[in-house]
Parts: sequence; C-alpha cells; structure tokens
Amino acid sequence: MRRVFLGLVCFVLLLWASCAEASLRAFDVGGRAFKLETNVLGSAEFVSLYDLSQAIGGSLTCDEWTRCIELRVSGKSFRFMPSSRAVLIDGDDCIYLPNAVTEVKGDALVTTAFITSILPDYMKSSGKGKSTYSGNKKLVVLDAGHGGHDTGCRGGGLNEKDIALDVTRRVRDLLTEMGYRVIMTRNSDVFLELPNRSDIANKNGADIFVSIHVNDAANTAASGTETYYLSKVQVDNDYHARRLESSSYGYELRKRWSSLTTKMKSIMRQQHYQTTQQKSQLLAEKVQKRLARAAGGDNRGVKGKNLSVLRNSYCPCCLVEIGFISNWSDLKKMKTSAHKQKVAQAIAQGIKDYLK
Ligand SMILES: [Zn+2]
Repeated sequence: MRRVFLGLVCFVLLLWASCAEASLRAFDVGGRAFKLETNVLGSAEFVSLYDLSQAIGGSLTCDEWTRCIELRVSGKSFRFMPSSRAVLIDGDDCIYLPNAVTEVKGDALVTTAFITSILPDYMKSSGKGKSTYSGNKKLVVLDAGHGGHDTGCRGGGLNEKDIALDVTRRVRDLLTEMGYRVIMTRNSDVFLELPNRSDIANKNGADIFVSIHVNDAANTAASGTETYYLSKVQVDNDYHARRLESSSYGYELRKRWSSLTTKMKSIMRQQHYQTTQQKSQLLAEKVQKRLARAAGGDNRGVKGKNLSVLRNSYCPCCLVEIGFISNWSDLKKMKTSAHKQKVAQAIAQGIKDYLK
C-alpha cells in the first residue's frame, strides 16, 4: 500500500515537473527588491500569490466559500478570483491581467506581469493606476444584437439583427477613425449566446461595452430612441426586457447564472454595481443625448434595467435602442443608409463624450 502511495506521489511530481518549470527570479517593486520562485505554465510565467504577499509585506486572505483571494498591501486591496483575469482594486477599479489566476495544488498563482506592470503603480503612489492592462488606446466592445436563427424583431421586410449589424459596423469604423480599439462580438449573421457577448468584453478587458438593438412595440405609435444601463430595478411589465430574457438564449443564461452559488452571485452583483453602475448610467446618458438628437422620433431617455447582457459585463455598459421597427416613420428612416450613418455617428460621438 505504502509502495503504491509513493509511486503515485512520484508520478504526480513527474507530471508536475513536466508541465511547470520552476526557477528563481529577481523583482524590484517600489524600491523593494526580492526574489520569487516562478513557474512557467504554457507560455506565461507565474508566482505564488502567497509567496508574493510575504515578499512585499502584504497579507493574503481567502474566502473559502466564494474563492475570492484578497491581497492587502500598502493600504491597497487587490481581489482575485481563480480562473479570472479580472483584479478588483479597492473594490472600485477593475483591471485585467494578461493571464487568469491559476490554482495549482491549492496554491493560487498569479502572472508575473502583475508584479512588473501593475503593482508598481499602486506601491509608489496612492493615486489610481491604469484602468486597463494593455496599451493606452481605449477598447470599446460593440455588440450587434441577435443574429443567426435569432432574428430579433421584424417589420416591413427587415430583421432587427441585420439593421443592428449594419449600424454596429458603421460605429466600429467611426470609432476606429477616432483612434479607439474596437472589437465586435459578431461581424456576420451568426448566433451568439448572451453570456458569450459580455464574456468577449470581459476577456479582452474592455473599457466599455455597447449593445445595439432595434425596438418593437405592440403600440405602433411608439417611436424614437432609448438607452438602457444596468439597474437592480427590474421593470416587470416592460415588453422588451421580457422579450430579451425569454428569447432563445434565455435557457443558456439561466443555466450559467444558476450554476454559481447564491453567495457568489450576491458578491458579484454587489461588486458589479459598485464598480460600474454609475459609470454605465453616465455612458447611457452621453449616448442617448447624441442619439435622440440625430435619430428623431421620441426621446424616451435613459432607463435602468436588470438586463443580463449588461449584468454579466464587468465594464461600464449600455444597450441602445435606435428606433422602432413597429413604427412606420422609424422603419422608413432605418431603411436608408444616410439615417443609419447618422445614428452610428451619434452613438460613436456619445461614446467619445464618455471616454474623454
Ligand atoms: Zn433586440
């Protein structure tokens, strides 16, 4: 039995040695020099968060239930989650590591880029660091609503998914001209699950996420534009919110969300609200202000709503409704290139107003 056990230990050690090379590397953070054992996993170099906290005189706590790991150093709090690239700083700023925090044998490993590129900003001054890890250009993730078998609303021979994609491409071109980096969740007529849309923003460390849709109402007199930001208030009698949540991707969405523990959900929600809600509201206001002026029809304003596409994104985000497919006048306008360009210009300008 003992021999079998030893054999098993040797096998595990061999396996570990074959996938991770350990070596000692010197670091210097805010004038504090130290050496740490590093492990190469894949193409990235990692150190133990525990070793790091010891080396820089910090403290490390781990919530067994939520699996959140908090590093406190120089009066700053850094919160990590296993398998996530996001780091929450002082419960306020969310930054993204180039690699996710990894758990190996109960030890949490963080990429050395955290020590070399992020930590120095916080160790030497009390001011805030960079909002995103990569580059100075702000990253905007644009989401053209619906796609593939999910046509969205339909009217006058038009599908919401096609209008949304057309306008989103125009917004992308305009933002790129303005000097922003842009990623589109879809650039063709494909179906994407709702959580995958916000995952694209989260994984790439987006500065903002904007989802573009076309509205629909039983009352054909309803016209114009509105913009949603995430709010705890769920307006149950709202037609579009219900339609979005109960559409074909509703199942996938509920499955993902219910696989998290209740406590994890409440912590994530709380963090999300704290970090992004005010910013999302501001973003929605900036975009709606420009859009209402350009698109005409009724200015239906900004509205808080508990929409999953917004709920699952970690950065400030909003959902834009550029007009009603059910309204004759809106529909006629949305058929023209000139109007779609005008709407795209307004959205791009609103995004610029927010980001500057
Ligand atoms: Zn829609």
